[in-house]
Amino acid sequence: MQAEVHGECPLCGSHDAAILSRRARDGSPLTTVLCHGCGLGRVEPRPSPAELTAFYRDRYRLDYKGLLRPARYHVLRAARLARERIQRLSDLIAPGDAVLDVGAGGGEFLYLVRAAGCQATGIEPNLGYAGYARDELGLDVLPGFPEDHDFGPRFRLVTLFHVLEHLADPLEGLRRLAGWLLPGGCLVVEVPNFEFACQHPAHRFHRAHLFHFNSATLRRCGERAGLTPVSTAPSEDGGVLTAIFRMDGAAPSPPEPVAGNFERLWKLECERPPIRYWLAPATWRHTAARLLRMTEEHLSARRFPSRRAILDARAGRGTPAGAGRI
Ligand SMILES: [Zn+2]
Repeated sequence: MQAEVHGECPLCGSHDAAILSRRARDGSPLTTVLCHGCGLGRVEPRPSPAELTAFYRDRYRLDYKGLLRPARYHVLRAARLARERIQRLSDLIAPGDAVLDVGAGGGEFLYLVRAAGCQATGIEPNLGYAGYARDELGLDVLPGFPEDHDFGPRFRLVTLFHVLEHLADPLEGLRRLAGWLLPGGCLVVEVPNFEFACQHPAHRFHRAHLFHFNSATLRRCGERAGLTPVSTAPSEDGGVLTAIFRMDGAAPSPPEPVAGNFERLWKLECERPPIRYWLAPATWRHTAARLLRMTEEHLSARRFPSRRAILDARAGRGTPAGAGRI
């Protein structure tokens, strides 16, 4: 399985890596490698910045969800998740603070942040979703990518939910966002947890995810961008990692190996052949819970007359008659 790989790891500078997979989850060719120096997983070779821009601007949401604006049950799910995130981050922000959400999607997090009294700004590369958030929800969502904008240091909180793994250069992306934080401001990053066991081994690899992080590489990514790690924690089911970083003027760390991380991840990789995934009780518990949740989301979302009504209910602005609780 191990083989010579060309290309440099953007996190530690190593040229040594082992092949994790030669296929995407749809069966098409896609090489994903694990860096010997730090344990960062990455697609090799990666698409050019121009290819990525075109993909996310026009195609991504359509390819991924078949839509140019979110379905109602997606809004319901995203609104619930946004509420949980705001509760978890409540120590980091106060009414009046400026908050930036990068990769704002349908704007659910921003809508609820604004309802909580913050100044909410978003960046969203997909023109359909950015237009929906702006025109239907009245949010300050700018189309494009972080490199298309330059805010200067004005935000108390910058959030990046399931975005970092899509960036052509995650380190450069974090450096840019760090420059938009006020002193003492925080950057919150959520990514899929590469150590998560309740996912079919082959389903982890698809061409939109250019990088795969565990807590050690996510933390190092922030340190290399000149941010101070505050915490890194997996979600309750282990599927998602959330890291909080603070801007306190620390010098960016140099490109160095992350001792033992490749060995740790390679061992985990060898311990999870597909048959073990199918035989694990946790796999079936996770699948059943997901199906139940999706059914309930579809049914609950139908009770609301509009996407905005779902968000207003989650923001505590009253629930339309017959809509019930979300
Ligand atoms: Zn590396």
